[in-house]
Amino acid sequence: MKEQEMEITLSTTLKEKPKEDKLEFGKTFTDHMFIMDYTQGQGWHDPRIVPYQPLKLEPSAMIFHYGQSVFEGLKAYLTEDDEIILFRPEKNFERLNKSNDRLCIPHVDVDFALTALKKLIQVDKEWVPKLEGTSLYIRPFIIATEPYLGVAPAGHYQFIIIMSPVGSYYKEGIHPVKIAVETQFTRAVHGGTGEAKTGGNYASSLKAQEVSEKMGYSQVLWLDGVEKKYVEEVGSMNVFFKIDGEVITPELNGSILSGITRTSIIELLNHWGYQVTERKISMEEVYNAYKSGKLEEAFGTGTAAVISPIGEFLWNDEKMVIQNGETGPLSRKLYDTLTAIQTGKQEDPFNWVTKVSEKVRV
Ligand SMILES: *Cc1c(COP(=O)(O)O)cnc(C)c1O
Repeated sequence: MKEQEMEITLSTTLKEKPKEDKLEFGKTFTDHMFIMDYTQGQGWHDPRIVPYQPLKLEPSAMIFHYGQSVFEGLKAYLTEDDEIILFRPEKNFERLNKSNDRLCIPHVDVDFALTALKKLIQVDKEWVPKLEGTSLYIRPFIIATEPYLGVAPAGHYQFIIIMSPVGSYYKEGIHPVKIAVETQFTRAVHGGTGEAKTGGNYASSLKAQEVSEKMGYSQVLWLDGVEKKYVEEVGSMNVFFKIDGEVITPELNGSILSGITRTSIIELLNHWGYQVTERKISMEEVYNAYKSGKLEEAFGTGTAAVISPIGEFLWNDEKMVIQNGETGPLSRKLYDTLTAIQTGKQEDPFNWVTKVSEKVRV
Protein backbone atom coordinates (compact mmCIF):
# COMPACT_ATOMS: atom_id res chain seq x y z
CA MET A 1 0.00 0.00 0.00
CA LYS A 2 1.37 3.39 -0.96
CA GLU A 3 1.35 6.52 1.13
CA GLN A 4 -0.52 8.55 -1.47
CA GLU A 5 -3.45 6.20 -1.06
CA MET A 6 -3.93 7.51 2.45
CA GLU A 7 -6.81 9.95 2.70
CA ILE A 8 -6.55 12.76 5.23
CA THR A 9 -9.63 14.51 6.60
CA LEU A 10 -8.65 17.37 8.89
CA SER A 11 -10.73 18.30 11.88
CA THR A 12 -12.50 21.66 11.53
CA THR A 13 -12.72 22.23 15.29
CA LEU A 14 -9.36 21.81 16.99
CA LYS A 15 -9.43 20.97 20.68
CA GLU A 16 -7.88 23.06 23.39
CA LYS A 17 -4.63 21.47 24.49
CA PRO A 18 -4.21 20.60 28.17
CA LYS A 19 -1.52 22.44 30.18
CA GLU A 20 1.80 20.63 29.87
CA ASP A 21 2.38 20.63 33.61
CA LYS A 22 -1.03 19.06 34.24
CA LEU A 23 -0.98 16.13 31.83
CA GLU A 24 -2.47 12.89 33.08
CA PHE A 25 -1.80 9.51 31.53
CA GLY A 26 -4.19 8.53 28.74
CA LYS A 27 -7.05 10.93 29.41
CA THR A 28 -6.86 13.43 26.57
CA PHE A 29 -6.39 12.58 22.93
CA THR A 30 -5.07 14.53 19.97
CA ASP A 31 -7.25 15.96 17.19
CA HIS A 32 -6.80 13.08 14.76
CA MET A 33 -6.50 9.31 14.54
CA PHE A 34 -5.40 6.77 11.96
CA ILE A 35 -7.77 4.02 10.91
CA MET A 36 -7.63 1.19 8.35
CA ASP A 37 -10.00 -1.69 7.64
CA TYR A 38 -9.41 -5.35 6.94
CA THR A 39 -11.82 -7.47 4.99
CA GLN A 40 -11.20 -11.13 4.39
CA GLY A 41 -10.33 -11.71 0.74
CA GLN A 42 -9.43 -8.05 0.25
CA GLY A 43 -6.75 -7.50 2.87
CA TRP A 44 -6.09 -4.16 4.60
CA HIS A 45 -7.72 -1.25 2.80
CA ASP A 46 -8.85 2.37 3.11
CA PRO A 47 -6.07 3.74 5.31
CA ARG A 48 -7.10 7.21 6.46
CA ILE A 49 -6.45 9.94 8.97
CA VAL A 50 -9.67 11.37 10.36
CA PRO A 51 -10.73 13.58 13.29
CA TYR A 52 -10.55 11.68 16.61
CA GLN A 53 -14.06 10.33 17.08
CA PRO A 54 -16.13 7.48 18.54
CA LEU A 55 -16.19 4.22 16.60
CA LYS A 56 -19.36 2.90 15.07
CA LEU A 57 -19.58 -0.82 15.79
CA GLU A 58 -22.41 -3.30 15.89
CA PRO A 59 -23.17 -4.71 19.35
CA SER A 60 -22.39 -8.09 17.82
CA ALA A 61 -18.86 -7.00 16.84
CA MET A 62 -16.66 -9.90 17.87
CA ILE A 63 -14.27 -7.81 19.95
CA PHE A 64 -17.01 -7.29 22.56
CA HIS A 65 -17.58 -11.00 23.04
CA TYR A 66 -14.39 -12.96 22.59
CA GLY A 67 -11.71 -10.35 23.12
CA GLN A 68 -9.78 -10.68 19.88
CA SER A 69 -7.56 -7.62 20.13
CA VAL A 70 -3.90 -6.61 20.25
CA PHE A 71 -2.21 -3.33 21.10
CA GLU A 72 1.10 -1.50 21.32
CA GLY A 73 2.46 1.42 23.31
CA LEU A 74 5.29 3.79 22.34
CA LYS A 75 6.24 7.43 22.75
CA ALA A 76 7.25 10.39 20.57
CA TYR A 77 9.50 13.06 22.06
CA LEU A 78 10.29 16.62 21.08
CA THR A 79 14.03 17.29 21.10
CA GLU A 80 15.71 20.52 22.14
CA ASP A 81 16.08 21.26 18.40
CA ASP A 82 12.31 20.93 17.90
CA GLU A 83 12.52 17.63 16.10
CA ILE A 84 10.06 14.85 16.85
CA ILE A 85 11.70 11.47 17.42
CA LEU A 86 10.50 7.93 18.06
CA PHE A 87 12.30 5.17 19.95
CA ARG A 88 12.66 1.89 17.97
CA PRO A 89 9.12 2.16 16.54
CA GLU A 90 9.65 -0.66 14.02
CA LYS A 91 10.06 -3.00 17.01
CA ASN A 92 6.54 -2.13 18.15
CA PHE A 93 4.98 -2.99 14.79
CA GLU A 94 7.06 -6.18 14.54
CA ARG A 95 5.79 -7.16 17.99
CA LEU A 96 2.24 -6.21 16.96
CA ASN A 97 2.54 -8.85 14.23
CA LYS A 98 3.77 -11.43 16.74
CA SER A 99 0.74 -10.67 18.88
CA ASN A 100 -1.40 -10.87 15.72
CA ASP A 101 -0.10 -14.39 15.04
CA ARG A 102 -1.15 -15.58 18.49
CA LEU A 103 -4.60 -13.98 18.27
CA CYS A 104 -5.28 -15.13 14.64
CA ILE A 105 -5.31 -11.51 13.42
CA PRO A 106 -3.82 -10.71 9.97
CA HIS A 107 -0.39 -9.04 9.84
CA VAL A 108 0.04 -5.37 9.07
CA ASP A 109 2.87 -4.14 6.85
CA VAL A 110 5.51 -2.80 9.26
CA ASP A 111 6.85 -0.13 6.88
CA PHE A 112 3.38 1.07 6.00
CA ALA A 113 2.31 1.21 9.65
CA LEU A 114 5.40 3.29 10.42
CA THR A 115 4.69 5.63 7.51
CA ALA A 116 1.09 6.02 8.67
CA LEU A 117 2.21 6.74 12.23
CA LYS A 118 4.70 9.39 11.09
CA LYS A 119 2.02 11.04 8.95
CA LEU A 120 -0.40 11.07 11.89
CA ILE A 121 2.23 12.62 14.16
CA GLN A 122 2.94 15.29 11.55
CA VAL A 123 -0.76 16.13 11.34
CA ASP A 124 -0.93 16.45 15.14
CA LYS A 125 2.62 17.73 15.63
CA GLU A 126 1.50 20.58 17.87
CA TRP A 127 0.40 17.93 20.39
CA VAL A 128 3.91 16.68 21.17
CA PRO A 129 4.53 18.35 24.54
CA LYS A 130 7.76 20.18 25.15
CA LEU A 131 8.12 20.27 28.93
CA GLU A 132 10.92 18.14 30.44
CA GLY A 133 9.73 14.57 30.98
CA THR A 134 6.60 14.84 28.84
CA SER A 135 5.92 12.92 25.64
CA LEU A 136 3.23 11.95 23.18
CA TYR A 137 2.02 8.44 24.04
CA ILE A 138 0.99 6.42 20.99
CA ARG A 139 -1.48 3.56 21.15
CA PRO A 140 -1.80 1.43 17.99
CA PHE A 141 -4.38 -1.38 18.31
CA ILE A 142 -6.38 -3.85 16.27
CA ILE A 143 -9.88 -5.10 17.07
CA ALA A 144 -12.17 -7.72 15.53
CA THR A 145 -15.12 -5.78 14.12
CA GLU A 146 -17.10 -8.46 12.30
CA PRO A 147 -20.71 -8.67 13.52
CA TYR A 148 -20.93 -12.38 14.37
CA LEU A 149 -21.43 -14.39 17.55
CA GLY A 150 -19.70 -17.55 16.38
CA VAL A 151 -16.40 -18.39 18.05
CA ALA A 152 -13.85 -18.14 15.26
CA PRO A 153 -11.21 -15.68 14.05
CA ALA A 154 -13.06 -12.65 12.66
CA GLY A 155 -13.14 -11.77 8.98
CA HIS A 156 -13.14 -7.99 9.57
CA TYR A 157 -10.77 -5.89 11.66
CA GLN A 158 -9.85 -2.28 12.27
CA PHE A 159 -6.30 -1.08 12.88
CA ILE A 160 -6.39 2.23 14.74
CA ILE A 161 -3.74 4.58 16.12
CA ILE A 162 -4.66 7.14 18.77
CA MET A 163 -2.28 9.50 20.60
CA SER A 164 -2.30 11.17 23.98
CA PRO A 165 0.09 13.78 25.46
CA VAL A 166 1.42 12.46 28.77
CA GLY A 167 3.30 13.94 31.68
CA SER A 168 6.43 12.67 33.31
CA TYR A 169 5.93 9.29 34.99
CA TYR A 170 7.91 10.65 37.92
CA LYS A 171 6.57 14.01 39.01
CA GLU A 172 9.29 14.46 41.64
CA GLY A 173 12.16 12.60 40.00
CA ILE A 174 12.77 8.86 39.74
CA HIS A 175 11.75 7.01 42.91
CA PRO A 176 11.20 3.36 43.86
CA VAL A 177 7.93 1.45 43.94
CA LYS A 178 6.73 -1.20 46.39
CA ILE A 179 5.78 -4.49 44.77
CA ALA A 180 3.73 -7.38 46.15
CA VAL A 181 4.72 -10.85 44.90
CA GLU A 182 1.52 -12.52 43.69
CA THR A 183 1.12 -15.99 45.13
CA GLN A 184 -2.56 -16.66 44.39
CA PHE A 185 -3.53 -15.39 40.96
CA THR A 186 -1.90 -16.16 37.60
CA ARG A 187 -1.38 -13.78 34.68
CA ALA A 188 -0.21 -16.24 32.05
CA VAL A 189 1.05 -19.77 31.57
CA HIS A 190 3.25 -21.38 28.95
CA GLY A 191 1.13 -21.92 25.84
CA GLY A 192 -1.26 -19.11 26.80
CA THR A 193 -1.23 -15.52 25.56
CA GLY A 194 1.33 -14.03 27.98
CA GLU A 195 3.77 -13.37 25.15
CA ALA A 196 1.18 -11.34 23.21
CA LYS A 197 0.18 -7.77 24.00
CA THR A 198 -3.53 -8.44 24.20
CA GLY A 199 -6.27 -6.94 26.37
CA GLY A 200 -7.22 -10.27 27.93
CA ASN A 201 -3.91 -10.49 29.80
CA TYR A 202 -4.73 -7.18 31.45
CA ALA A 203 -8.32 -8.15 32.24
CA SER A 204 -7.06 -11.20 34.11
CA SER A 205 -4.48 -9.17 36.03
CA LEU A 206 -6.88 -6.60 37.52
CA LYS A 207 -7.98 -8.65 40.52
CA ALA A 208 -4.48 -9.18 41.84
CA GLN A 209 -3.68 -5.52 41.22
CA GLU A 210 -6.75 -4.45 43.22
CA VAL A 211 -5.87 -6.69 46.18
CA SER A 212 -2.25 -5.54 46.30
CA GLU A 213 -3.18 -1.86 46.04
CA LYS A 214 -5.38 -2.23 49.10
CA MET A 215 -2.32 -3.47 50.96
CA GLY A 216 -0.31 -0.42 49.89
CA TYR A 217 1.65 -1.97 47.02
CA SER A 218 1.54 -0.28 43.64
CA GLN A 219 2.01 -3.33 41.41
CA VAL A 220 2.36 -7.10 41.56
CA LEU A 221 5.24 -9.35 40.60
CA TRP A 222 3.93 -12.35 38.70
CA LEU A 223 5.35 -15.80 39.25
CA ASP A 224 5.14 -18.70 36.82
CA GLY A 225 1.61 -20.08 36.58
CA VAL A 226 2.53 -23.70 37.22
CA GLU A 227 4.68 -23.83 40.34
CA LYS A 228 4.41 -20.18 41.50
CA LYS A 229 8.14 -20.42 41.94
CA TYR A 230 9.93 -18.53 39.16
CA VAL A 231 9.78 -14.78 38.58
CA GLU A 232 8.01 -13.68 35.38
CA GLU A 233 7.33 -9.93 35.23
CA VAL A 234 5.74 -6.94 36.96
CA GLY A 235 2.36 -5.52 35.84
CA SER A 236 3.32 -3.94 32.53
CA MET A 237 7.08 -4.14 33.05
CA ASN A 238 9.84 -6.69 32.73
CA VAL A 239 12.00 -7.17 35.80
CA PHE A 240 15.75 -7.17 36.49
CA PHE A 241 17.79 -8.03 39.59
CA LYS A 242 21.38 -7.14 40.42
CA ILE A 243 22.76 -9.87 42.64
CA ASP A 244 26.41 -9.86 43.70
CA GLY A 245 27.41 -7.80 40.64
CA GLU A 246 25.51 -9.93 38.12
CA VAL A 247 22.43 -8.56 36.35
CA ILE A 248 19.73 -11.22 35.94
CA THR A 249 16.41 -11.07 34.11
CA PRO A 250 13.94 -13.92 33.56
CA GLU A 251 14.45 -15.58 30.17
CA LEU A 252 11.68 -15.22 27.60
CA ASN A 253 9.83 -18.46 28.20
CA GLY A 254 6.62 -18.04 26.22
CA SER A 255 4.55 -16.47 28.99
CA ILE A 256 6.57 -13.26 29.45
CA LEU A 257 6.08 -10.22 27.22
CA SER A 258 9.25 -9.37 25.30
CA GLY A 259 9.66 -5.70 26.24
CA ILE A 260 11.48 -3.33 23.89
CA THR A 261 12.81 -1.51 26.95
CA ARG A 262 14.02 -4.90 28.29
CA THR A 263 15.94 -5.60 25.06
CA SER A 264 17.39 -2.07 25.04
CA ILE A 265 18.51 -2.32 28.68
CA ILE A 266 20.26 -5.64 27.99
CA GLU A 267 22.01 -4.10 24.96
CA LEU A 268 22.99 -1.01 26.94
CA LEU A 269 24.36 -3.06 29.85
CA ASN A 270 26.33 -5.27 27.47
CA HIS A 271 27.70 -2.12 25.83
CA TRP A 272 28.89 -0.97 29.27
CA GLY A 273 30.55 -4.33 29.88
CA TYR A 274 28.09 -5.74 32.42
CA GLN A 275 27.28 -9.40 32.42
CA VAL A 276 23.53 -9.84 31.87
CA THR A 277 22.12 -13.31 32.34
CA GLU A 278 18.74 -14.29 30.95
CA ARG A 279 17.64 -17.32 32.89
CA LYS A 280 15.07 -18.74 35.27
CA ILE A 281 15.24 -17.07 38.65
CA SER A 282 13.14 -18.29 41.56
CA MET A 283 11.70 -16.09 44.28
CA GLU A 284 13.59 -18.23 46.75
CA GLU A 285 16.87 -17.28 45.06
CA VAL A 286 15.92 -13.59 45.25
CA TYR A 287 15.05 -14.04 48.94
CA ASN A 288 18.29 -15.84 49.74
CA ALA A 289 20.26 -13.14 47.96
CA TYR A 290 18.40 -10.56 50.02
CA LYS A 291 19.10 -12.42 53.28
CA SER A 292 22.81 -12.68 52.54
CA GLY A 293 23.02 -9.00 51.57
CA LYS A 294 23.73 -9.74 47.90
CA LEU A 295 20.51 -8.35 46.42
CA GLU A 296 21.91 -5.00 45.35
CA GLU A 297 19.13 -3.67 43.14
CA ALA A 298 15.86 -4.60 41.46
CA PHE A 299 14.02 -2.64 38.79
CA GLY A 300 11.24 -2.88 36.25
CA THR A 301 11.53 -1.80 32.59
CA GLY A 302 8.75 -0.59 30.28
CA THR A 303 7.80 2.25 27.96
CA ALA A 304 5.70 4.13 30.55
CA ALA A 305 8.27 4.49 33.36
CA VAL A 306 11.39 3.46 31.37
CA ILE A 307 13.07 2.28 34.60
CA SER A 308 11.13 1.73 37.79
CA PRO A 309 13.39 1.00 40.75
CA ILE A 310 11.92 -1.49 43.21
CA GLY A 311 12.33 -0.41 46.84
CA GLU A 312 10.47 -3.26 48.47
CA PHE A 313 9.07 -6.71 47.75
CA LEU A 314 6.39 -8.33 49.86
CA TRP A 315 6.57 -12.12 49.46
CA ASN A 316 4.09 -14.01 51.63
CA ASP A 317 4.78 -12.30 54.99
CA GLU A 318 8.37 -11.34 54.26
CA LYS A 319 9.20 -7.72 53.49
CA MET A 320 12.43 -7.24 51.58
CA VAL A 321 13.67 -3.64 51.55
CA ILE A 322 16.21 -3.08 48.76
CA GLN A 323 18.80 -0.24 48.74
CA ASN A 324 17.13 1.19 51.88
CA GLY A 325 14.06 1.79 49.74
CA GLU A 326 15.98 4.22 47.55
CA THR A 327 16.99 4.29 43.88
CA GLY A 328 20.15 2.24 43.27
CA PRO A 329 23.09 3.63 41.25
CA LEU A 330 22.66 1.23 38.31
CA SER A 331 18.90 1.91 38.07
CA ARG A 332 19.60 5.64 38.05
CA LYS A 333 22.37 5.39 35.45
CA LEU A 334 20.18 3.27 33.17
CA TYR A 335 17.26 5.68 33.58
CA ASP A 336 19.39 8.77 32.92
CA THR A 337 21.07 7.23 29.88
CA LEU A 338 18.03 5.70 28.23
CA THR A 339 15.83 8.77 28.72
CA ALA A 340 18.63 10.98 27.37
CA ILE A 341 18.88 8.82 24.24
CA GLN A 342 15.09 8.69 23.84
CA THR A 343 14.76 12.47 24.04
CA GLY A 344 17.73 13.19 21.80
CA LYS A 345 19.79 14.78 24.61
CA GLN A 346 22.52 12.20 24.31
CA GLU A 347 24.18 10.66 21.30
CA ASP A 348 22.50 7.43 20.18
CA PRO A 349 25.30 4.94 19.44
CA PHE A 350 22.80 2.17 18.67
CA ASN A 351 20.72 3.94 16.01
CA TRP A 352 17.59 3.42 18.10
CA VAL A 353 16.04 6.80 17.44
CA THR A 354 14.00 7.60 14.31
CA LYS A 355 13.16 11.14 13.22
CA VAL A 356 9.56 11.84 12.30
CA SER A 357 10.60 14.81 10.21
CA GLU A 358 13.00 17.72 10.29
CA LYS A 359 12.11 20.82 12.28
CA VAL A 360 8.37 20.40 12.59
CA ARG A 361 8.01 23.41 14.84
CA VAL A 362 10.01 26.45 13.84
C1 LIG B 1 4.10 -3.63 27.18
C2 LIG B 1 4.47 -4.57 28.26
C3 LIG B 1 5.77 -4.62 28.82
C4 LIG B 1 6.85 -3.62 28.47
O1 LIG B 1 7.18 -3.59 27.12
P1 LIG B 1 7.94 -2.32 26.52
O2 LIG B 1 8.06 -2.65 25.08
O3 LIG B 1 9.25 -2.25 27.21
O4 LIG B 1 7.09 -1.14 26.80
C5 LIG B 1 6.03 -5.58 29.76
N1 LIG B 1 5.09 -6.44 30.18
C6 LIG B 1 3.85 -6.42 29.68
C7 LIG B 1 2.86 -7.41 30.17
C8 LIG B 1 3.48 -5.49 28.72
O5 LIG B 1 2.24 -5.47 28.24
